[in-house]
Amino acid sequence: MLLIISWISLKEKPGEGSSCLKTEMVDSQYYLPNDIGISALDCREAFRLLSPKEQMYAHYLSRASWYGGLIVLIQTSPESANIYVLLQKMFRAQAPQQLEAAATAAGLSAEEYQAFLVYAAGLYANMGNYKSFGDTKFIPNLPKEKFKALVWESLAFKQSPGDMEALWGCCSESLYSLEDKQKQLGLGEKGISAYFSGNCCLEDAEFAQKFLDSKNLSAYNTRLFKTEIDGKRCYEVRLASAEKDNCAVEGKSEVCCGKHEFEDAVFSVKRGDYAFLMEKVCQNLEKAKDYAANDNQKRMLEEYSRSFTCGSVEAHKEGSRYWIKDKGPIVESYIGFIESYRDPFGSRGEFEGFVAVVNKAMSARFAQLVSSAEDLLPELPWPPAFEKDRFLKPDFTSLDVLTFAGSGIPAGINIPNYDDIRQTEGFKNVSLGNVLAVAYATQKDKLTFLEENDKDLYIKWKGPSFEVQVGLHELLGHGSGKLFVQDDKGKFNFDQTAVRNPETGELISSWYKGSETWDSKFSTIASSYEECRAECVGLYLCLNKEVLRIFGNEGGDAEEVVYVNWLNMVRAGLLGLEFYTPESKSWRQAHMQARFVILRVLLEAGEGLVGLKECMGADGRSDAVITLDRSKIYTVGKSAIQRFLCKLQVHKSTADVEGGRALYEGYSAVTADGTHNFLRLRETVLLRKEARKMFVQANTYIKDDAVELVEYEGSAAGLIQSFVERFPDDAEKVEAQLLEMTCMDSSCWC
Ligand code: ZN
Repeated sequence: MLLIISWISLKEKPGEGSSCLKTEMVDSQYYLPNDIGISALDCREAFRLLSPKEQMYAHYLSRASWYGGLIVLIQTSPESANIYVLLQKMFRAQAPQQLEAAATAAGLSAEEYQAFLVYAAGLYANMGNYKSFGDTKFIPNLPKEKFKALVWESLAFKQSPGDMEALWGCCSESLYSLEDKQKQLGLGEKGISAYFSGNCCLEDAEFAQKFLDSKNLSAYNTRLFKTEIDGKRCYEVRLASAEKDNCAVEGKSEVCCGKHEFEDAVFSVKRGDYAFLMEKVCQNLEKAKDYAANDNQKRMLEEYSRSFTCGSVEAHKEGSRYWIKDKGPIVESYIGFIESYRDPFGSRGEFEGFVAVVNKAMSARFAQLVSSAEDLLPELPWPPAFEKDRFLKPDFTSLDVLTFAGSGIPAGINIPNYDDIRQTEGFKNVSLGNVLAVAYATQKDKLTFLEENDKDLYIKWKGPSFEVQVGLHELLGHGSGKLFVQDDKGKFNFDQTAVRNPETGELISSWYKGSETWDSKFSTIASSYEECRAECVGLYLCLNKEVLRIFGNEGGDAEEVVYVNWLNMVRAGLLGLEFYTPESKSWRQAHMQARFVILRVLLEAGEGLVGLKECMGADGRSDAVITLDRSKIYTVGKSAIQRFLCKLQVHKSTADVEGGRALYEGYSAVTADGTHNFLRLRETVLLRKEARKMFVQANTYIKDDAVELVEYEGSAAGLIQSFVERFPDDAEKVEAQLLEMTCMDSSCWC
C-alpha cells in the first residue's frame, strides 16, 4: 500500500473534498491548469555517489521499469495507448520548441499551445488520460479543431499522413469526450475500465472472482474479457506474461491455462497479455542480475523473471520474500502488478516499477544524528525514566527515486501487499526523500497563506529545514520514549515504586499488560498521535545548536532554518484542513491531522506567537494569512511544545488511552469558536489548494561501459523530452506493439 507521508501520496476518491470548487467551475477539474507545478526529480547527488556496479544495477532495473510502466496505458483506458503513440510520433519528429512554429501556423495561441504541452505532460506523468490521484478524466484545454489542426501541421503528419490520420481517428473522440460514463474510472455504467471489456458489470467481476478463487488463481496480473457464444457466457482471463502458450520456466507454477466449465459459463485462461512488454521487462531483469549486490537480490530477480515469463503470481510472491530479506540495500526496487486501487473491483494490480537509491550524503548526516542520540535524548521534556533504557535506531531508510514508472509517484511506500507475507515475513517501509522535497518546494506564486517576506524565506530555507525536521522526526521522534510494560509473568520493565507522573507527582498507575501494544491500545488515534509526537520532537530539538551543526547550519543560517521549520509547521497545520471531512467529523490523513493539532497548540499558547487571519484575496475570493513571531519561538513556542510533548509522552508511556484520547481529540476537533472559524478556513483551503504536481524524471544510458544520467528541466517541455528519449533503441517498435495490444481488446473502437 502507499505510505501516506504527505498530501501528495493520498489516493482520493473522485470529487472528494472539493465540493465548493465543483459548483463554481464545472469543467476545470477535467483539465490540467496551464500553470500546473512540474518539477524535476533530483537524484544527481545520490546517483553520483553509487559505485559503477550499483549504477549498472540501477540502470537495468530502470529499463525494466520503464518498459513495464507502459502497461499502465493499456490498463487505464481504451484510448490511452493511442494518444500516447500520437504524441510520441509528434514529439519524436519535432521537439516542443520546434513544434511551436507548427502550432502558430495552425492558428494556436501561446496559451493554447501551452495547454497542449501540459496535456501531453499529464498523459505521460499519469500514463493515461485519467488522473492517478482521484481517477477522474482530463482533456486538453484547447478546442478539438485546434488540436487537430496542430496534428495536421506537424512534421510527423507530413512524413506519414495516413498513419497519423488513422491514429487521430482512433482516439480523438474519446480523447475529448466528457460523457458521464467517461468522466471517471469505474465498472459498467459507472465509468471506464480497461481491466474489463466494456460489456462487463459488477456481477461479472464477482462471478469471475468466484472462478479465480476456485482455481486458486490470483487476480493481480489479470484482465477479464466477456463474450457470448450461442447464448452462453464466455470469459477470457488474460494473464500478463511474456510467454503466450506453454511456459518453459513454469516450474512449480500453479497456473492452470486452458478452458474450464464453471457453473453455466466457460472460462478460458490465457497467457500473453502485454507479452512484448513483459518480455522486455524480463530481458532487463536478467541483465540487472549480473550486477546484483547479493544472493537475495539475484534470487529475487530470478523469481520476478519467472513470474513475468509465465504469469505466475506465486513466483512474484517468492520474489517478494527475497526482497524483504534484502535489508537496507543501496539500490532499492520493486516491480510488478502491485496496487489494486484502480481496478474498480479492487483485485487487479496496476503495473509499477521503481528504482531508488540511498542518498549516501544524507545518510551520513542521519548517522551522525544517531550517534549523538545519547546526548540529545536527555534534552527531551520528559523524566529519564520515560526514556528507553537503550536507544534503538528505528528502521528508516530515506531513498531518492531514480525511476518511478507507472501512473504516479507516492512519497513513500509500505509493501508487499500480499497479506499472508506481511503477517508472517514482514514488509518494508520506504520514504522517498526527493519526492517529499519536491512536494515542499513550491513556486512563490503558489505559496498560499504566507506574507510576501515569508514566501522568500520559505523558498530559500525550505530544503535545509526540511532535512533537519525529517531526520529528527524519524530518528529521535519515532525512536524515543519508553512504554511501561508488565509482561505475562508479571515482571515490570520499570520501577513501579519510583516512577512518577511528572505533572501530578503521583506514582504511575497504568501500563501495558501482557500482549497489549501501542497500536492495540490507542487503535484509531495511534498513528496520527505518534506522528504528532514525532513532529513535536522535530520542532523541539531543531532549536538545539548541536543538531543544527550536524546538518551544517550555523550562525544566522541556523536561525533561518529554525524559523522556516516552525513556519512550515503552522502553515501545514492550516493546509491539513483539506484532509478533514466535516460530514463524518473525521480526518483522512494522519500526518496532516498531527500538524493541525500542533497549530492548535501553538495558537493556544497565545502572546502573538502565531497569527491566523481570514481576509479577502486580490481575486475577490476568500483567503487567509498565517504568521509566526520569530522572537517568541524560543520562549512562548518552545515552552508550549515542551508541555504538550511531555503530555503526549506520559499518556503514551503509561498506556493511558482515556487521557491521551481526550487530549488528542480535543485539539483535533475542527470547530468554529470565537477566535477561529476552522470550518470556514477549511473552505478557503479547499478553494486555494494547488493542483497536484508532476515530476520530470531522468534517463540513464550506457556509454563506454559506464552509466550516464541525463536530466531534464522541470517543465512540460522537459517532461515531454524525457519521454521522447526514453526508448532510444526501439521507440517505433514499442509504439507499434502498443497499438497492437490495444487493438486486441474487444473494447477497442478502431
Ligand atoms: Zn512519522
